[in-house]
Amino acid sequence: MGTEVSVFLWHDDPLRGEQAVAAIFAEVARLDNLMSTYKDDSRISAINRDAATAPVDAGGELFGLIQRSLDISVLTLGAFDITYDSVGQHYDFRERERPDEDTIARELELIDYRFVELNTADRTVSFRREGVRINLGGIAKGYAVERGIEVARRHGVRHARVTAGGDTRLLGDRRGTPWMVGIQDPREEGRVAVTIPMENEAISTSGDYERYFDEDGERYHHIITPTTGAPAGEVHSATIIGPDAVITDALSTSVFVMGVDPGLKLISTLPDYEGIVIDAEGQMYYSDGLQSPQ
Ligand code: ADP
Ligand code: MG
Repeated sequence: MGTEVSVFLWHDDPLRGEQAVAAIFAEVARLDNLMSTYKDDSRISAINRDAATAPVDAGGELFGLIQRSLDISVLTLGAFDITYDSVGQHYDFRERERPDEDTIARELELIDYRFVELNTADRTVSFRREGVRINLGGIAKGYAVERGIEVARRHGVRHARVTAGGDTRLLGDRRGTPWMVGIQDPREEGRVAVTIPMENEAISTSGDYERYFDEDGERYHHIITPTTGAPAGEVHSATIIGPDAVITDALSTSVFVMGVDPGLKLISTLPDYEGIVIDAEGQMYYSDGLQSPQ
């Protein structure tokens, strides 16, 4: 997944605890093989290669996640859009590469989640246009930590924390006390902006400090505004808290794109979800259900 995965858990039996940890990492590796666009032999790469020519069987699990991604696109009025990748593929943050104006203009035509057609009966995906690409980078880590916790549960674990990059899913509490989850200061590495006590929930942060490079005073990073093909510029990080890590992951990316007001307005319509946005001045904004610490 191109990110660090960590697991904390308790088990009465140390050996079974270690088996649980191994099983969680195996599950994450399995999902990476299914959903990574960096692997030519992954199912998603087959979809990107062939779905404009003929329907491609996605298999139930991948099909389900693509379907949920499209649902989030509808919910966020297109701020979340897995077809961002037709432009997104031209960024290489390690190599400090970015698409030129012509490339963006050309590829932008291909960003629209409505170009992705799903056939529920046979679980196939097809693209309505040649050149469309999908990338689940904004939702797959949430799914992976959700699955990781499910594996832990099946191994008899009742207290666990599984993290992949900016996405964390908790099982139970920290044996009698809440888990304390820190939200990173977007401009001071290693400094925590705020710490939140949580149990049995998920938290996802999207930031412009994970994958980026700076050039001529501009920050080029990995969260793309689907309408412009450019990195979203209004905020520095967006954090979402709620019961399902698939949703918190997709919504953190979405709220990052939408910005403070539209983003928090959307969150206020979802009773189970809360958000914290840090804008470009370092100002923190909380959704209605969270009280700002004094
Ligand atoms: P992180 O990888 O830091 O946890 P996010 O959850 O914010 O990050 O997801 C960022 C990833 O989402 C990007 O690396 C990219 O793969 C994908 N992405 C970027 N822009 C969009 C978008 N507008 N809609 C959906 N996915 C996106
Ligand atoms: Mg996300």
